[in-house]
Amino acid sequence: MILRLVLGDQLNPQHSWFREVRTDVVYALFECVEELRYAPHHRQKMLAFLHGMQQFASELRSKGHQVEHWTLDDPRQKGSLRANLEALRNELAKTASSVRLEYQEPDEYRVDQDLLGLGTRVPSEHFLTERGAVASHFAGKKTYLMESFYRAMRVRHRVLLDQADQPEGGSWNFDSDNRSAWDPKQAVPTEWRAHHDLRELDARLDRHRIPRWGDALADDFPWPAHRREALELLEHFVAHGLTKFGRFQDALAENHDFLFHSRLSFALNTKMLHPREVIDAVESAWRRDPQTYPLPAVEGFIRQILGWREYVRGIYWAKMPEYANLNYFNHQRPLPQWMYTGKTQMRCLQVAIGQSLRTAYAHHIQRLMVVGNFALLAGFDPRELDAWYLGIYIDAIEWVEMPNTRGMSQFADGGIVGTKPYVSSGAYIHKQGNHCGSCAYSVTEKVGPNACPFNALYWHFYARNRDLLERNPRVGMVYRTWDKMNPDHREALLEYADLNLNNINLL
Ligand code: FAD
Ligand code: SF4
Repeated sequence: MILRLVLGDQLNPQHSWFREVRTDVVYALFECVEELRYAPHHRQKMLAFLHGMQQFASELRSKGHQVEHWTLDDPRQKGSLRANLEALRNELAKTASSVRLEYQEPDEYRVDQDLLGLGTRVPSEHFLTERGAVASHFAGKKTYLMESFYRAMRVRHRVLLDQADQPEGGSWNFDSDNRSAWDPKQAVPTEWRAHHDLRELDARLDRHRIPRWGDALADDFPWPAHRREALELLEHFVAHGLTKFGRFQDALAENHDFLFHSRLSFALNTKMLHPREVIDAVESAWRRDPQTYPLPAVEGFIRQILGWREYVRGIYWAKMPEYANLNYFNHQRPLPQWMYTGKTQMRCLQVAIGQSLRTAYAHHIQRLMVVGNFALLAGFDPRELDAWYLGIYIDAIEWVEMPNTRGMSQFADGGIVGTKPYVSSGAYIHKQGNHCGSCAYSVTEKVGPNACPFNALYWHFYARNRDLLERNPRVGMVYRTWDKMNPDHREALLEYADLNLNNINLL
């Protein structure tokens, strides 16, 4: 007898495991209290994963596979993945002469360690690179430049190349065309959404006293539950979002939760979709109709998946477990209460956090340049911040969340992922969007009770971390500007920043 474990982020019906129906194979899917409690998960995130597993189990059954799907209510429940596996294995051993465990390569270090030695690990058949690809690409190097990895990926996977194997359009990267600020006259695409009734599942979580955080939307649940819906979402994005994806990729907007972003990360991270099919759908749209789908939008989108997504996974496997303890600036500040409620007077954060609580989603610039930016300026403890990001977003799985949070956003790895910290004053947020107009603070004021807190905190961050940053060639200019400032103004900025930090819950 073979017992095959399917984890909640392995909902890929195209895996070679499922090609034939075998009477000697049992597939196991477990709902585990331990998994639901190890970070403060958003209720929508829990529902989306458990619902996906439920649908996957029924789909396998309907195709004739033998399936054990243990819900939280199952009387055999032991609460943890390992204990459930042992219990099911013992149960099967009562009727089979031997039970062998097989599992797909887990994406999380913690789960990988937990399963080590318990059975045979097989490839998950999802990513475009091996776990160790980034480590070997950058062997012997101190910094891991994503762009060099991305170009190698374009060549290796023959994506957006012309007949002579050169990049289409004569450039590898069209990022400079992709930075437009928000234009409120633009119409955004209507949202693709599923309509699932998950009230029963939601009640099950309550019955097992799983803490509630964020809106559940259980009576009309919007996230895809299986591959068919994930493909619909992909088709919707190509038809309606892709054309302006590039142009407004970095924009911030009041009243538009998703702008032109794809919202495909959940479907990708649970493996309902394969990255190659997403890349192919986007590249072929451009080849078919380059007038409608501009190359900068297409290249910009493909870079996120072929480049960033594979790259951060490689960083994770190259640097774990040490990566989880990196704290370059030794930041220790606990997260203020408003990070969990969205009740702050800073409009940009109010919108980003409020939306995250409502939808379990925020787009990249909200995560990086609003929440992450403030967190770094204020010196939030990266451990607590990691748990926050891991909990709140629908797509948050540690292999992708952690290098983005500790690395890209918090520079806690000292510059492995980013060449300089992603911080800005209020001016960047003002330029990219329209939050500042309805904020309690004034983005043009630098000090005083009405001044935008980002402004003084920006200088406070650089001043307090001078020893660590001054020699960074991409940062030096900041210190030259600081040194030229009037000393009284410098003093006032630092004082105002300290005042904000001491009253952070009131901002
Ligand atoms: P789009 O903007 O439509 O992009 C298309 C796809 O590209 C995404 O679906 C995603 O698969 C991929 N992608 C884009 N940027 C990245 C990136 N930096 N790293 C990896 N893949 C990328 N992404 C997650 O999937 N899970 C996370 O837990 C996560 N945590 C993040 C935390 C922080 C602090 C930051 C700054 C970014 C994080 N990201 C994470 C990356 C990115 O913000 C999300 O992938 C994206 O916002 C998801 O929305 P979307 O599907 O609409 O993406
Ligand atoms: Fe955010 Fe400052 Fe603008 Fe307010 S003024 S929305 S705090 S950047």
